[in-house]
Amino acid sequence: MSCNDATTIERVSEHPRLDKTPDTSEPEDLPVRSQRDHVWCLNRKHRWALANGGSGYHHALRLSTQVCARCWARRQPRARWLVVDHRTPMPADQADQLDDRGARILVVARRPAVRAGAGRLEVRVRGIVVAITELQLCGIDHRGVVRHIQVDPAHRRRGFGTLLLDAAQARGPGYHWSTVRLDQSEDSQDFWAYQDPAEPLHLGEPHYCTHMREANGEWV
Ligand SMILES: [Zn+2]
Ligand SMILES: [Zn+2]
Repeated sequence: MSCNDATTIERVSEHPRLDKTPDTSEPEDLPVRSQRDHVWCLNRKHRWALANGGSGYHHALRLSTQVCARCWARRQPRARWLVVDHRTPMPADQADQLDDRGARILVVARRPAVRAGAGRLEVRVRGIVVAITELQLCGIDHRGVVRHIQVDPAHRRRGFGTLLLDAAQARGPGYHWSTVRLDQSEDSQDFWAYQDPAEPLHLGEPHYCTHMREANGEWV
């Protein structure tokens, strides 16, 4: 589509001596998004389906891309994003042994040590952990508690925290979801006010079940 052509032209003119290799010279620091069916574009300005949303492929990162043609036409930042699988995180021990043939941006899961205890989801970019969330899940009570989401300051504003929230909620569709008390920093308030979670989410007060309390070492 025309957007991709525009990228190619810009890239080629930036690197006049290179052959047309837009796949390998694509920027790698594009924002990311989960595979959910998103109604809005990444800037939350346009209904993606109505804005001539287009798809592509980032060969170096081996990920699909999506673009909002309206944001692109207006030269908005974050007009294009990478689509990352948030539903099937890779087990941490498997991800630790990954060679360079694997995906470059991955959601990785660490199981909790005890049932209903705190498990962990990470985003790894080329093997480096850039964002972490801790969550507690109970399959008996159908509850999920997001304990915190942390993104490395050098990797903020790329959607890694939002991706982790989607990845967390994908572990318990239809569950009752809540978070612990939220950090009141400006970044944290921006983050939570931006969210459009897949499942209703009660902010700032964890609704633990007895199994979670037990896992947390509380007297039940
Ligand atoms: Zn848009
Ligand atoms: Zn429970």
